Amino acid sequence: MRTDNDTWDITTSVGSTALFVAAARALEAQKPDPVAVDPFAEIFCRAVGGQWADLLDGAAPEHALKSEFGADFVNFQGVRTRYFDTYFSRAATAGVRQIVLLAAGLDSRAYRLDWPDKTVVFELDQPQVLDFKRAALAGVRPTAERRAVAVDLRDDWPRALLEHGFDPSSPTAWIAEGLLIYLPATAQVALFAGIDALSASGSHVAVEESVPMDPEEFTARQQEEERGDSSAHGGPFFQLVYNEQDEPAAQWFGVRGWRSEVTPLSDYLRALGRPVPSPKSDAGTMTSTISLVGAIKG
Ligand code: SAM
Repeated sequence: MRTDNDTWDITTSVGSTALFVAAARALEAQKPDPVAVDPFAEIFCRAVGGQWADLLDGAAPEHALKSEFGADFVNFQGVRTRYFDTYFSRAATAGVRQIVLLAAGLDSRAYRLDWPDKTVVFELDQPQVLDFKRAALAGVRPTAERRAVAVDLRDDWPRALLEHGFDPSSPTAWIAEGLLIYLPATAQVALFAGIDALSASGSHVAVEESVPMDPEEFTARQQEEERGDSSAHGGPFFQLVYNEQDEPAAQWFGVRGWRSEVTPLSDYLRALGRPVPSPKSDAGTMTSTISLVGAIKG
């Protein structure tokens, strides 16, 4: 269960979710027809080693990412990566040169995407997550100027960002991928407010969001995990997320002068030729709640 000031590294609590999604990206990259290729995801998995390296070598058949749920989850991460890569490509084409990865985790876009000259990428996450990333990618040159900002996103992250040279007068492209579910509703609203306050006209934002589950069902899932009865994710998941939402992102940004567009995950899976999981499966339940939301400040 979560507490207000909890911390983690790359293999514990919320930090391990960054490794889980990176491993899914590494498996997507191994496919003959990947929808996204993140070569750094494999580097991170091998840096941790053990089951994470075995998984990529086909030597961990019991791993959660090798289950039926895992196959759907890998598709999900593949299309999610493509969605946000496309988002950044459009923002760069529109002239945006300041990028903020909120909860960067093992997002490798500062090393992987073809950024225009003079692009600055800020990466925000907890210190130990960024420490792991720095060590794993030692010697690898980023494709933009990269600035790591070690901060908790429940704290005063706008101040930390400004202290690292963020320029609020320049249009920015923000991303919150795989983040909102790990924040209580109050911190989600504070996150949106921080983005809005620091965004010049012409800024872009993209978030992944989920409609909360029925609270009774959510509690039952948490209890199931505590008993060790089931875990599609191969470890705690329902104990790490808040299942809270104050207001959908498109609505929140919409009334503040941002033009937004909502893409249900199932639509995007279909658009990229990937199967939409059965609504009766764990992956189907998850998929039906998720949307990818983009907005531009007018
Ligand atoms: N955005 C990355 C991606 O999609 O690959 C990482 C997603 S991972 C599922 C969740 C990330 O959120 C982790 O890296 C975790 O450390 C970060 N995170 C969650 N809550 C946070 C908080 N309060 N402060 C800083 N980072 C946080």
